[in-house]
Amino acid sequence: MSQADILAPHFTDAEKAREFLEAQRWPDGPVCPHCGLIGEAYKLTPKATSKKGTHVRRGLWKCAGCRKEFTVTVGTIFEDSHIPLHKWLFAYHLLCASKKGMSAHQLHRMLGITYRSAWFMAHRIRYTMSQEPLSSKLTGVIKMDETYIGGKRKFGPQSIKPGERQKDRPHPFAGKETVVSVLQRGGRVQSHHLRGRVTSENLR
Ligand SMILES: [Zn+2]
Repeated sequence: MSQADILAPHFTDAEKAREFLEAQRWPDGPVCPHCGLIGEAYKLTPKATSKKGTHVRRGLWKCAGCRKEFTVTVGTIFEDSHIPLHKWLFAYHLLCASKKGMSAHQLHRMLGITYRSAWFMAHRIRYTMSQEPLSSKLTGVIKMDETYIGGKRKFGPQSIKPGERQKDRPHPFAGKETVVSVLQRGGRVQSHHLRGRVTSENLR
């Protein structure tokens, strides 16, 4: 698993993965899945061994409203999974970042988990991507291109008159509006009017 060495900590460490997921899922503070109260839960301190022999799980929160306990994975596909959270996040990353998708066999090798686990994860992850709100985002193979809409000028760039300098001529795209289209393989297109120049920053 040498590739994991250069990755973000939440792909290699279960605790970091939990913190990452908490920040992503709860930007306004922990949300109680039982009563819906936002930002009113407090963290329970994990103890390796307590006197009574009870064990407080890591990442456990207690709602100050309904007094019930929960973790960030309640209601997610990670809930009750024996696969460590950072491997789930890494699998998501691999499935989203690879241009041609990734087979369960590749996941199995890259994550150091059984093929059966990898197959299960890939199916669950693809399922979540087919659900809202992810499904309305453009996914899969995406092509992007820009075009310029506006009147055609009468003289092409090649018809430079003798003595005329290139910099005195209007820019080929002067007076035109830019439209950027993002095309997803399979047919969906989103087009946007782009203000300003076509730079990678503006396109993003
Ligand atoms: Zn609650």
